[in-house]
Amino acid sequence: MSVSDNLQDIHHRIENACARSGRQFDQIRIIAVTKYVSSDRAQEAIDSGIQHIGENRVEDYKEKYGLIGDQVKWHFIGTLQSKKVKKMIDDFDYIHSLDRLSLAEEIDKRANNKEITCFVQVNVSGEPSKAGLAPDDVIPFIRNLEKFESISVIGLMTMAPMVDDEEALRHVFRELRELRDSIRQLNLAHAPCEELSMGMSNDYEIAVEEGATFIRVGSSLVGS
Ligand SMILES: *Cc1c(COP(=O)(O)O)cnc(C)c1O
Repeated sequence: MSVSDNLQDIHHRIENACARSGRQFDQIRIIAVTKYVSSDRAQEAIDSGIQHIGENRVEDYKEKYGLIGDQVKWHFIGTLQSKKVKKMIDDFDYIHSLDRLSLAEEIDKRANNKEITCFVQVNVSGEPSKAGLAPDDVIPFIRNLEKFESISVIGLMTMAPMVDDEEALRHVFRELRELRDSIRQLNLAHAPCEELSMGMSNDYEIAVEEGATFIRVGSSLVGS
């Protein structure tokens, strides 16, 4: 299937999920996760209308970045080692994987006084294999980020477990939304926390129903 056919199918599914949940299509932005595919395939996604690209490894995105550059917004969605921040920070518009103070400190140090828009990654399901903070640790963590002047927490990110159980997935997404809502109510200047980065190829329709504002779609959009 061409990327454009896949994107049309995804648009229909998002529209249906919006209709089921009383949301507007334009509240949801699609990040094309291109980590599995070539620069040509990424460019095909952009030519089909994609405005956001997601990559997860500092070692792997540079060639694509060199070819595609600022045609799109760049999202870093993978685990980020502090020592690699300086290699990537100028290229990415969003970091989805902020999960510890040492990383925040390094981002702030390398930011050159530019605002860095971050999502705090939350391990809602509690699976030991997953990165992210435990839900109970998120608010204290975000309060601690106030001292880092370059960091703006624009939302929360999670990865749901790889299961087919729709109710289990829904529960994870709903918990992230409720946590987002309680942070938003704190009215912290450094953490407006309006966005929800959740939903991948297998579960984005449920994530949209539960309030996702960014979905991260790889295999069902560009292939794997
Ligand atoms: C790979 C990846 C995705 C995309 O996964 P698909 O199932 O292929 O859509 C989304 N988010 C993160 C953090 C990823 O690493």
